[in-house]
Amino acid sequence: MKILVINAGSSSLKFQLYEMENESVLAKGKVERIGMDSAILSYEPTGKNEIRQVEEILEHTTAIRKVLDWLVHKEEGVLGSIKEIQAVGHRVVHGGESFSSSVVVDEDVKQEIKRLFDLAPLHNPAHLLGIHAVEANMPDVPQVVVFDTAFHQTMPSQSYLYPVPMVLYKKHKVRRYGFHGTSHAYVSDRAAKLMQRPLDELKLVTCHIGNGASCTAVLNGKSYDTSMGMTPLEGLMMGTRSGDIDPAIVPYTMGKEELTIGEVNSMLNKHSGLMAISGISSDMREIVQAMGTGDRSATLAFEMYEYRLRKYIGAYAAAMNGIDAIVFTAGVGENSADLRAAVCRKLTFLGLELDEEANERRSGEERRISTDSSKVQVWVIPTNEELVIARDTHQLISDRIDVV
Ligand code: AMP
Repeated sequence: MKILVINAGSSSLKFQLYEMENESVLAKGKVERIGMDSAILSYEPTGKNEIRQVEEILEHTTAIRKVLDWLVHKEEGVLGSIKEIQAVGHRVVHGGESFSSSVVVDEDVKQEIKRLFDLAPLHNPAHLLGIHAVEANMPDVPQVVVFDTAFHQTMPSQSYLYPVPMVLYKKHKVRRYGFHGTSHAYVSDRAAKLMQRPLDELKLVTCHIGNGASCTAVLNGKSYDTSMGMTPLEGLMMGTRSGDIDPAIVPYTMGKEELTIGEVNSMLNKHSGLMAISGISSDMREIVQAMGTGDRSATLAFEMYEYRLRKYIGAYAAAMNGIDAIVFTAGVGENSADLRAAVCRKLTFLGLELDEEANERRSGEERRISTDSSKVQVWVIPTNEELVIARDTHQLISDRIDVV
């Protein structure tokens, strides 16, 4: 079965075409700057060079049509016909409390995604555009949605409720939802397989540290607590997001600096984190480089970032009464040996011993970076959210075919 995986943003759209027989990627690419006369479409059939085209693409339906044209292109295509695509899987950021697993798209599902626009105003509207664009181009092909929040729906109420008036939860659904769930679920599953232990007997802390960053306490295979909250702003310090701060800073700053709600939101989401403290960049590579030249602000930014992550790992060890393994994933987690070393060197009280050489080894592969005698295993596991979306889509569509 061939499955197209789509991650639609407001002005961009990423795609991967999977052959599920061997879970291989046949082609991938993205369309950027949708809505402009100079949109960029990049298309990469596996094993061949990337093709880039700059052209007018004013909305998502056209973007999907152009992608489909490339997939069946005479020389560069990987399909004989569009009809070979049997299903499309979409990433959807917010599933609220309605979705604790992936579902096949129908009218009710679309309505529910729309109802959740309030909770994810930057993401859900774009995902719905993507779903409609596929519908317009391939009206008979079933679609599946995979939610970033779904994995975290197992959190107990003590983890997901905030200590604020209950009316806010009852009336407005103010609670912790958590994000990056597809990634936390994938790396937990891989960690158990690599450790050769049943997932439902493990206490894991999974650290998805990329541009956005979150860590999750995964207890017996289920999300028990996670650092992101009602929105992806809470928790760890990130590239441009503050993570946890005293909520009183918001009204105080609004008063002192005469900021609007929009401005304070923008300050905390786009002008905080590594960027604000270093004054250099939100990119960990540039922070580490600047530290090498003795830059004090970059060093402070790194120290704060590492300290806040380490505190969460400690908190989750307490939450689960122990940890069997810590997993690092995503851009920084997979690539920054400096960050992993800084975190692990100060977790020796847990009986954790870092294998410094394994940690430094550059490789895009799954690997253990703790010593044989370490009481807590530490793993680097590259995430693969697209594969999870393809698998869930495959599963749901196969079940449907079986029923029919
Ligand atoms: P992601 O959101 O998972 O794509 O992660 C993107 C982030 O990963 C970038 O902003 C970088 O800060 C970080 N990153 C990528 N490569 C490296 C590296 N070699 N060392 C440190 N950070 C890296």
